[in-house]
Amino acid sequence: MIPFNKAVYLPKAAEYVEQTLKSSNIAGDGVYTRLCSEWMEQRFSAKKALLTTSCTAALEMSAILLDIQPGDEVILPSYTFVTTANAFVLRGAKAVFVDIRPDTMNMDEAGIEAAITKRTKAIVVVHYAGVACEMDAIMAIAKKYDLPVVEDAAQGVMATYKGKALGTIGTFGCYSFHETKNYTMGEGGALLVNEERYLERAEILREKGTNRARFYRGMVDKYSWMDIGSSYLPSELNAALLYAQLEIADEINDGRRRIWEFYHQNLCQYEVDLPVVPQECVHNAHMFYIKVKDLLQRQEVIRELKERGVDAVFHYVPLHSSPAGQKYGRFHGEDRYTTSESNRLIRLPMWYGLTADDLNRTVARVAEALAQSGIGKGMKRS
Ligand SMILES: *Cc1c(COP(=O)(O)O)cnc(C)c1O
Repeated sequence: MIPFNKAVYLPKAAEYVEQTLKSSNIAGDGVYTRLCSEWMEQRFSAKKALLTTSCTAALEMSAILLDIQPGDEVILPSYTFVTTANAFVLRGAKAVFVDIRPDTMNMDEAGIEAAITKRTKAIVVVHYAGVACEMDAIMAIAKKYDLPVVEDAAQGVMATYKGKALGTIGTFGCYSFHETKNYTMGEGGALLVNEERYLERAEILREKGTNRARFYRGMVDKYSWMDIGSSYLPSELNAALLYAQLEIADEINDGRRRIWEFYHQNLCQYEVDLPVVPQECVHNAHMFYIKVKDLLQRQEVIRELKERGVDAVFHYVPLHSSPAGQKYGRFHGEDRYTTSESNRLIRLPMWYGLTADDLNRTVARVAEALAQSGIGKGMKRS
């Protein structure tokens, strides 16, 4: 069986974790947390990167920092992970879903403006598969209506839009270092704070509502309860695991990109749609997907792949069709692509360490499964 995902394993990571264990400083904000944050700040030219327990935690912090209140509305795509919405719904906001583009599966920037009302408090974009949303257009709308932009860049670490790192363009950027992402600490993430005025409060929220961070920097002589907050900082053990991967981030990124290119070269002649990467975007090969005709054909292809030992999976069921999505959200405008395009998508195995041999076998089996499902070579589907 070719697994769908395998977390990166590095001997160096085991070494750093052991060293941390022996130091007994295993709580948060130690040496490795600092190394990870500084690495991100330098590499991505980010004002401030705060390591968190998850991307979900970073999204929740964004919602609190933006002072989201009951009755507020937040604009986001329906084709995303639940926590993109949940983080804001937790503060009492209504999720207003906007349709996606069929090419990148990202929120359609042309649909955002019509969804804005006087209750709108934020635009939340998701860079699907590490391919950036049309940020120039989105930031222009945000500026016109004076709205903050939160980038759910869970899948976008190391990807860029017009040379800028994803996560550094909006007001906040949220990264995920979950097991299924390009770089992992098991469970983890980061909040990139791109505007100075939110910095102090972000540190306080993350440290249970206290000014402990300032205390440690010697800026106050005791630390106190200053604000609401929670425990959003990860353990040093997780940070140690992550740092070993960040040290070789380019190598991991290049490895994934080679797998992505190989899939693309070998599958582009089939009657399926492949991921589209606009010219201004450099992606990070977070994902490789194919889009077949419809839901029925997808079930068939996934079954054929499983029979041949390839673990392929589908992705998000659109949030507006879920029980909580119906309760806490509404779809603005027409669902032209969200449901139909999500029904067509199949994700292929993608992980650093997938060997050339594994990959050759995977592609051969995908070709067989497609043929068995009546998908030939030739014309593109769209
Ligand atoms: C993975 C993911 C998340 C959640 O990340 P966690 O670190 O598990 O909280 C949120 N949004 C998107 C788009 C994701 O892919």
